[in-house]
Amino acid sequence: MVHAAGLTKSYKRSVALRGVDIDVSAGEVVGLLGPNGAGKSTLTKVLCGLVRADGGSASIAGAPAGSSLARSKVGYLAELFRFPGWATAQEVLVTHQRLARRPTAGGDADERNRLLAEVGLSQAGSTRVEAMSKGMQQRLGLAQAMVGDPEVLLLDEPTSALDPAGRHTVREVLSRARDRGTAVLLNTHLLGEVEQLADRVVLIDAGRVVAAGAISDLTAGHGVTIETDQGRVEHPHVPRDTIPALVSDLVADGRQVYAVIPHRSTLEELYLELVGDREAHR
Ligand code: ADP
Repeated sequence: MVHAAGLTKSYKRSVALRGVDIDVSAGEVVGLLGPNGAGKSTLTKVLCGLVRADGGSASIAGAPAGSSLARSKVGYLAELFRFPGWATAQEVLVTHQRLARRPTAGGDADERNRLLAEVGLSQAGSTRVEAMSKGMQQRLGLAQAMVGDPEVLLLDEPTSALDPAGRHTVREVLSRARDRGTAVLLNTHLLGEVEQLADRVVLIDAGRVVAAGAISDLTAGHGVTIETDQGRVEHPHVPRDTIPALVSDLVADGRQVYAVIPHRSTLEELYLELVGDREAHR
């Protein structure tokens, strides 16, 4: 649904993308990770057509990114956005319904009420933006991105202003969107969020992809802990395909094997290993 290959982009003073490949399928949540300045926002903006890449290709549902067909399929939540303070939540959504011009099942008012309920703002339809907390504005931003039920959601830091309850709501909203077949690209600093939600992650650093794949594959480590009637024994650095032989040797020796626990690293360990504490060096 989202496909990009070899994307490059330079600004006057900096190179933001140095050949980035990314794919997001229908019904998939992909987490886009990386330190500040890695190129995440630039990539997201190229995909939704706000920034033109210097090289490479990007498409949304087969249409070139930035074309009106591609734009019509995308819902976008920018990292920094500001709705007019005087507008109510309902009015913000009306504006975006007009901009999206996508026919909605059940009519526009039904859609607005459904979206406000989804993001937990049912009671705030007539509240003005200026009277909303940051968290409420971010929920409204997510509702805005989902106007017209887009096939692709590109979300830049959708949970940065939210408390734990708000993050939980966003996770639920996004997993429902995924279940409906939406392709979701989620740009966030919150690794925990990604671990709970994403099917795959793409880690970028200095404009390059440094790791990509399913979280379980990326964090699979070498080694195993085996628990037998004689207690737990750590077997570090054991490749996965030698584990069955290790277990059958123990059984042949008369051990009772209760548990075989593979060692894994966390997403945070992987991130620090590949990217390090980049910000400290800026
Ligand atoms: P991230 O979202 O990962 O923090 P960005 O895509 O915002 O990264 O930035 C990547 C690089 O491009 C950084 O060096 C940043 O300073 C630069 N950059 C981003 N947007 C602009 C812009 N509009 N003008 C000039 N440089 C920019």
